[in-house]
Amino acid sequence: MGRRKSSTKKISNKKRPTLDTSFKCPFCCHDKVVQCTMNFKDNVGTLQCRRCDTKYSTVINYLSEPIDIFTEWIDAAEAEHAANQELDREDEEGEGGEGGGSSRAAAAAAASDGEDSDI
Ligand SMILES: [Zn+2]
Repeated sequence: MGRRKSSTKKISNKKRPTLDTSFKCPFCCHDKVVQCTMNFKDNVGTLQCRRCDTKYSTVINYLSEPIDIFTEWIDAAEAEHAANQELDREDEEGEGGEGGGSSRAAAAAAASDGEDSDI
């Protein structure tokens, strides 16, 4: 009794948050193929997919993290994608393959009251 076991538990393994620097490519959809390079000297952050070679670079500051650049890239890519889709949609519209004649009636109705009513 009285003798205490002195077990010095070392809490050395300080968990350091490892910031992700590889992401899923929004273009080729492969995981962890996008590498992020942060150039704090020139304030430029660059992303590059090593599969499809798509690149994106943007201005960063000392607070920027790879995920920030990636998020921005996704936003930019989506905006571009949306713009492209809008163009596609304009081409595809007018081809109502179903209902035979109902699209013409709908078009006439839309033209008469000028309101965008989907039925
Ligand atoms: Zn890719």
